[in-house]
Amino acid sequence: MKKVIIPVSIALISVWSCARKTVPSRVEQLKAERAAAMRTHTAPVATVPEPQNQENNMVSPNPNTYMDSSYANYTYHVMAKAFSDSIAENPNLNDASLNYASDFVGSINFNLRKPNFVIIHHTAQDSVSQTLRTFTLARTGVSAHYVIGRDGLVHHMVNDYLRAWHAGGGRWGNVTDMNSCSIGIELDNNGYEPFTDAQINSLLQVLRSLKKRFDIPAANFIGHSDWAPVRKDDPNVYFPWKLLSQYGFGLWWDDTTNVQVPQNFDYLQALRIIGYDVRNSVKAIISFRRHFCGINSNDGTLSPQEQKVLFCLYKKYLY
Ligand SMILES: [Zn+2]
Repeated sequence: MKKVIIPVSIALISVWSCARKTVPSRVEQLKAERAAAMRTHTAPVATVPEPQNQENNMVSPNPNTYMDSSYANYTYHVMAKAFSDSIAENPNLNDASLNYASDFVGSINFNLRKPNFVIIHHTAQDSVSQTLRTFTLARTGVSAHYVIGRDGLVHHMVNDYLRAWHAGGGRWGNVTDMNSCSIGIELDNNGYEPFTDAQINSLLQVLRSLKKRFDIPAANFIGHSDWAPVRKDDPNVYFPWKLLSQYGFGLWWDDTTNVQVPQNFDYLQALRIIGYDVRNSVKAIISFRRHFCGINSNDGTLSPQEQKVLFCLYKKYLY
């Protein structure tokens, strides 16, 4: 029998390429798994929701449709494709009352809009699986870009370029549609417990990535209750805002020992400058206290120490 000699370099290349094929990165593995799930999904065509042109130009599924994760994934791709097709439509004739030119000239200089805020939430639920289910039920009408478990596992449910439904009505500065300009991050936490180290470490990684990719300013990392103080109290007082600020996510106050609050200090104006909606001043104060003092209290007036904190902080927002 003839002996076949394989050159060492070729053998090494084959072993290397074989090893590469057999040890894919976690991202490659996830992509392959999702692609396989999409190929094998057998949802009957008739149950796939038709894109609906609603008043706000959003495409949404039938609100009564229950979605298991497989069907939700399938629907996610159908909807994303519908948006993609809508964006690529030529020409863009969105308003029949406008006097459009008859010939379309599309610019070639553009890219996708980028989020400029991050809103932190706690889920107020008992498990990640409960939250994943909530966000895949059409009738709930809520979602977030990320859900982070107590174990630090990151579920990326909505692409960063898409508009998740996490913030709802509210106001911060002069922003009145936070869903259109923000990323929503939900932390698995029932509202009455500390956050785990694994969870906060994963959160920091996600925030680092978002800040780097979208150039989000430190002041624009806020909580849901900051955005909607009348309706919301998340994240709770256990959330480590001071720690986050040390990494450049959110602003924080300095040592207040020598801070002298002026006699005529207008604390509602200061809260407004920071961003709070002060039309309900008591709720704005409660939300500020929760975020920056770590205290849950319904007291509608600021203590001398809280006024020092506010005075110190608002000067940072001025510049
Ligand atoms: Zn929330």
